[in-house]
Amino acid sequence: MRLICAWVLITIVLVAVNAQENPMPNSTATSPQLSWVNASNAKLERELIAKYGEAQRLRLERGLRQVGEFWRPEDGDAAAFEEFVRANFAGDQATLDTMFNRFERLLEQLGGHMHEINREFRQQMDLDLGPVLPFDEMFGGYDPSAHIIDDFFQNKLAFVALLNFPLTTLDERLKEGPSWTRRQWAEVRLAQRFSKRIPADVNLGIAQAEAAAARYVAEYNIWMHHLLDENGQRLFPPKMRLLSHWNLRDEIKADYADKQNGLAKQRMIQQVMGRIVTQTIPAVVVNNPNVDWNPFTNEVKPAAVNDSDSPAPASMNISSAREPDTRYATLQKDFLASKKADPYSPTAPTLIARRFDEDREIPEARVKAMLEQVLTSPLVPQIAKLIESRLGRPLEPFDIWYNGFRPDSRYSESELDAIVAKKYPTAEAYQRDIPNLLLKLGFSPERAQHVAQDIVVDPARGSGHAMGAEMRSEKAHLRTRVEKTGMNYKGFNIAVHEMGHNVEQTFSLNDVDHTLLKGVPNTAFTEALAFVFQGRDLQLLGLPAPDTKSEAEKTLNDFWTTYEIAGVGLVDTAVWHWMYDHPQATPSQLNAATLQIAKDIWNRYYAPVFNHKDVVLLAVYSHMIDSFLYLPDYSIGHLIASQIEEQMKKAGEIGPEFERMAKMGDVTPDLWMENATGKPVGPDALLEATKRALSRVQ
Ligand SMILES: [Zn+2]
Repeated sequence: MRLICAWVLITIVLVAVNAQENPMPNSTATSPQLSWVNASNAKLERELIAKYGEAQRLRLERGLRQVGEFWRPEDGDAAAFEEFVRANFAGDQATLDTMFNRFERLLEQLGGHMHEINREFRQQMDLDLGPVLPFDEMFGGYDPSAHIIDDFFQNKLAFVALLNFPLTTLDERLKEGPSWTRRQWAEVRLAQRFSKRIPADVNLGIAQAEAAAARYVAEYNIWMHHLLDENGQRLFPPKMRLLSHWNLRDEIKADYADKQNGLAKQRMIQQVMGRIVTQTIPAVVVNNPNVDWNPFTNEVKPAAVNDSDSPAPASMNISSAREPDTRYATLQKDFLASKKADPYSPTAPTLIARRFDEDREIPEARVKAMLEQVLTSPLVPQIAKLIESRLGRPLEPFDIWYNGFRPDSRYSESELDAIVAKKYPTAEAYQRDIPNLLLKLGFSPERAQHVAQDIVVDPARGSGHAMGAEMRSEKAHLRTRVEKTGMNYKGFNIAVHEMGHNVEQTFSLNDVDHTLLKGVPNTAFTEALAFVFQGRDLQLLGLPAPDTKSEAEKTLNDFWTTYEIAGVGLVDTAVWHWMYDHPQATPSQLNAATLQIAKDIWNRYYAPVFNHKDVVLLAVYSHMIDSFLYLPDYSIGHLIASQIEEQMKKAGEIGPEFERMAKMGDVTPDLWMENATGKPVGPDALLEATKRALSRVQ
């Protein structure tokens, strides 16, 4: 199951490119204390209230405060400021309506066309259209929208928005949002686009930290054939090179199937992970096939076998000297770069606040409470017992990645491949069948046609992704991989997932009442809606749905994955708090603090069922190093997916329910979920489903 599909990754890449390509060195601090601003404001208030009436006082005061917060000396002197406010304050409803409508229409055009250029520029890279030449990658890496926010502050359109529309805190959006009109919500989202004015050199510093962290993570491979056990045996095959942590974790999962050596391999990988987290790993073994290493004794020797093409460098220093806290030095640079943006983000003045209050829009305390509710659920020890009985041994720490809950498949993969290839020999065949597939999901013929005409199927170079439109005159693109022999089952399964994204993208852009509210609250929602489609792929092929036992296995797998990743999210969050509390710390102090945090969380929520204490595995995720407090999103994603799936089951017909949910648009997650299911975001649906599943499995 993929919580992040290619579509999301593209968005993330674009954001990173945005920041990276900002060349203007321009680091004048924001000037909350322009010496003249109070006198100018007093003068403008007298003048404009006399002109427009007392009823405008609150709006005017708010607008002046918001503009003053972002105005810098180079934007103009007192006279320029006053002239700007006089000319651009919408003092009556008709002018305000005109301004709102014009901003909404033109921002849709701007975003839509920028996205169109991006899509065209990436076409050769994204689609199966023959060789990619070096300049194609340059086109693909270019983002014409990179400087829009800077431009809008410079030409003062951002100040027009800030003068007339309200900036809000998450607290206000949560408390007052449910009683706002849709127009009020759209005004809030409009102002929010200009809630930060981060200088170009600060953005550049963040982009550089991101790039350095991504490089560190991307090159952190372990050459598995060079791991020796106590008898000098090699448990893993030649040439196996695993990237930390993803491939290492997935190898642990795969090793459950190896009845002979699986357990020894899993224990060895766990030992390697521990060495990485504690930074007792010998520096020379990272990404190096020229040494052999016993991760238990930490002994390093020249490689006795050769399974790579890279010759040993002449000057390689073979020793057990540990990696010198590079992992934590990298993380600390993320923190220091992010912190520089704090003064320019008044409504969310720390990276922690920006992640929780802006990106997730769920307060940190609530996220923490939800994760703890999963971690302390009485279902955990019950499922742990079930896993032990299936494994025939007590749990070991790496069993947080147990993957034995699987649906039974009535059909083999090759049978399914044959069915799919016959049905979809080409991408066009899939395109033609979309209305029919939507009918099977319960959409009416009219709605199926309505959505299908806005989806174009393209042959993907990679495994596939969904690229929505950003304006109503554009179509959503479904990118799917079709082999010469026709589509295979994996490709179909992904195409159905991406089609779920496209249908959501189409409803939430074309049928939402304000384009300023297009989309969903965050990526977890679009993923959850895509899973609703993906989970019904067999029915779409005309085959029987998975039986209740298979569904129960899937639910137990969801629960165990959520339980595992919830602890990881808590560690990530606590480490960022520690960094904010200790801004002067050394990498080695950050190392020690991270280990303590990981052990504390393990001891509280995992040790009681695993019967092992002081385990540090929860800190092994590479996202912690390169993704800036992203990890809590995975658990929230699982909770949201369960809530939506439960609601779909209750509603029966998916089509109308899907459309109703998607048209809510980009409001807070809780408000969206209240509208969708009658309850805010939370773990109850997952816990209920797990309880039911547990009674059906055993
Ligand atoms: Zn997806």
